Amino acid sequence: MAYKITLIPGDGIGPEVSGAAQACVDAIARRFGFGVDWEEMPAGEEAEKKHGSVLPKKTLASIRKNTVALKGPITTPVGSGFRSVNVELRQKLDLFANVRPAKLLPGVESKYSGVDLVVIRENTEDLYAGIEFDEGKKATIDLISFAKKNTGKTIRKDSAISLKPISVFGSRRIAKFAFDYAKANRRKKVTAVHKANIMKYSDGLFLKTVQAVAKKYPSITFEDRIVDNMCMQLVIKPELYDVLVCPNLYGDIVSDLCSGLVGGLGIAPSANIGEKYAVFEPIHGSAPKHAGKDEANPTACILSAAMMLGHIGENKAAVALEEAVVEVIKEGKKVTYDLNPRRHVGTKAMTEEIIRKIGESA
Ligand code: NAD
Repeated sequence: MAYKITLIPGDGIGPEVSGAAQACVDAIARRFGFGVDWEEMPAGEEAEKKHGSVLPKKTLASIRKNTVALKGPITTPVGSGFRSVNVELRQKLDLFANVRPAKLLPGVESKYSGVDLVVIRENTEDLYAGIEFDEGKKATIDLISFAKKNTGKTIRKDSAISLKPISVFGSRRIAKFAFDYAKANRRKKVTAVHKANIMKYSDGLFLKTVQAVAKKYPSITFEDRIVDNMCMQLVIKPELYDVLVCPNLYGDIVSDLCSGLVGGLGIAPSANIGEKYAVFEPIHGSAPKHAGKDEANPTACILSAAMMLGHIGENKAAVALEEAVVEVIKEGKKVTYDLNPRRHVGTKAMTEEIIRKIGESA
């Protein structure tokens, strides 16, 4: 049988790392006797130039039809220009759970040992909702007056404002996902990350809702940490933590921190999961300074593809692909610059070595 999967190459290093992941999936599929029919679709800067939209309708339609996509990173202009395609994709497809594992793989140089964390990040609400009011606009002035009238607080007239919606629905849904994930993956502890001491309503609601869900999972230890303390704890003793459930913004920041504990963004995979659709992508961005130079680490995108194989039910292929990657990293001879600054190869050579390992273990 053949699975139909949407492939979005993305911007910058995206086409190189997603091409590497595609080749590895094809190799593992051949070994395990199934096929993959890739449907390549545009999104990002190139898509805007060629199709007049950063997220063309046909790309969304393809994911809705196939229900699963593998995606390279997409550039988002800083401070101006178009809004994040990644955020739009997650909102339009209601990919509410962002799963970001950070596991120290054998052979990766790190100051730590025994780190095996999973960040479960709420993916649709919070400051990423994209509800913003620009400085000097009438709606912003109205909002400033509304806030003054209803809270007595003064916001400076030359302010820009971003809204931070956090709902019971969104918090309950992500909490349930985190505990179900912990149960299914034999994890022992879930830690809620928040700043409810300061944001008593938004983060307070998130914490209260997660606490209520936690009561339904008595076999899993539950605790919570204020986000600043959480960052310090993770740097000092990451081995004490297991599954972290976070609102959107903290989840983004804390998961990058976690990837730093286990060797960096080049090896950090992720999944965006909803009720109907799932999109798999590396945590890292389009790293423009490395684009087109055959030097980006393909591991994060390949491990994202392994998560995708697990999601479609090809568990043995998922494990075998991860094992091939781990083997190549452990040997340390054909890895990219970030894994071995003294002796390294390019994206293509590392990918070829992973594919060779897949063949060898057949
Ligand atoms: P980045 O992740 O692209 O790069 C940060 C640094 O991490 C790079 O300079 C590089 O040193 C390292 N790095 C990242 N990926 C690597 C890899 N595969 N191999 C080796 N080293 C790697 O972050 P940034 O520079 O802040 O963002 C660049 C662009 O990517 C921005 O436009 C941003 O909005 C976008 N972005 C997209 C996504 C996504 O598509 N999901 C995620 C994050 C950032």
